[in-house]
Amino acid sequence: MKKLKADIVIAGGGLAGLTLACLLANQGLETICIDRDDPHKQAADTFDGRTTAISYGSSQILTRTGVWQQVKPHGCPIKHIDILDGASDILLDFKAEDQPFGWIVENHFLRRALFTRAEASKGLTWLTNEEVKDINLEKDAATIKTNAHHIEGALLVGADGRQSFVRQAAGIRSRFKDYKQRAIVCVVEHEKPHNNIAVEHFRVEGPFAILPCPNGPKGENRSGIVWSVPTSSTSPKNWSEDAFNMALQARFPARYGAVKRGGPIWEFPLTMNHAEKYTNEKNLALIADAAHGIHPLAGQGLNIGLRDVDALSRLLTGSDDIKIILAEYQRMRRPDNTGMVAAMDILNGLFATDFMPTALSRKIGLHAVNKLALAKEFFTRKAMGV
Ligand SMILES: Cc1cc2nc3c(=O)[nH]c(=O)nc-3n(C[C@H](O)[C@H](O)[C@H](O)COP(=O)(O)OP(=O)(O)OC[C@H]3O[C@@H](n4cnc5c(N)ncnc54)[C@H](O)[C@@H]3O)c2cc1C
Repeated sequence: MKKLKADIVIAGGGLAGLTLACLLANQGLETICIDRDDPHKQAADTFDGRTTAISYGSSQILTRTGVWQQVKPHGCPIKHIDILDGASDILLDFKAEDQPFGWIVENHFLRRALFTRAEASKGLTWLTNEEVKDINLEKDAATIKTNAHHIEGALLVGADGRQSFVRQAAGIRSRFKDYKQRAIVCVVEHEKPHNNIAVEHFRVEGPFAILPCPNGPKGENRSGIVWSVPTSSTSPKNWSEDAFNMALQARFPARYGAVKRGGPIWEFPLTMNHAEKYTNEKNLALIADAAHGIHPLAGQGLNIGLRDVDALSRLLTGSDDIKIILAEYQRMRRPDNTGMVAAMDILNGLFATDFMPTALSRKIGLHAVNKLALAKEFFTRKAMGV
């Protein structure tokens, strides 16, 4: 077993972990990032059919990382957000003023840009096809065992996703909720252009999102969907092509014209998790989905994960005292994320019923939001991630 040593060791090289790894290496910190997957497999179109709504705030973090320049040309700017309530005729529409709310980017473009950056980053040792099997946080330095290496670092960062091995091995408890919903994800082709409008349609069965994408190779008008459906019913993935397209047509506003599926269908279970603390106060920090996983109804999961990345990377260059850094990181990020976890949980629950009093209060609440310029400003700033 080979021995390695670094300032920072990151377990998990997904979108969040690898962004942090590239940022820290840019900042001159010796960093090791470990991922159990094969990057060639992860970079393929067939690995992850999702799109991500990158907020304006996240685009600034990715610019600092040195990847946004490669990603932006593949993104589609969001200039309007329409929020519809399925049980009423209420529509909230938000229009971006000077700059877009964000960009819809297909995940494989993000991954490829990060992989290129990671390969070129001096000071970053990127270990792939390698799994974190054991950790020891007893001494000042953290020790990590993989199937091939014995690694030591002043700080271990758990960026290994919702089922985080690191979080569990460190004995950090996490709140968990199964929404009993699955997200159906695919690209949809439509007759008329999307005009850079993102739609979030709250329906009793679960939210249905339409996310504007760049045109296809033959100029096809394209949008991505995130369609939340209860796990108690048959997955639309198993429906016939005609039934699937008819359901899409019924859910798209008429302004899109005729719609049909434009790519493979993907399915993701929808759950919530929130770690009771983000550090062990000594040599461990949790970031992104390892710390908090939310419902994708507002497209904020990775965006809040990137804010963890931004905070931790800045703190690590501002001080040498890991204990102070960890205390400050927890203070900066947990309350912010707690608000987002709660907001997504409440929103999903609020719309998932047509029980009269809830439907009524929802109606009143949304009318109030539409009228209140200040509340609108709040929603707009949240969507932009600033
Ligand atoms: C349907 C859907 C739509 C979404 N849309 C949006 C959106 O529009 N905007 C947005 O901001 N967010 C969105 N999200 C959320 C977003 O996808 C996640 O928040 C984000 O991918 C989390 O990244 P991560 O790096 O924390 O975790 P992951 O992507 O889960 O990465 C974890 C990595 O750790 C590795 N790993 C795990 N265990 C080990 C181990 N023991 N050893 C080594 N490696 C290990 C894995 O191989 C993986 O590469 C969406 C989520 C879903 C389900």
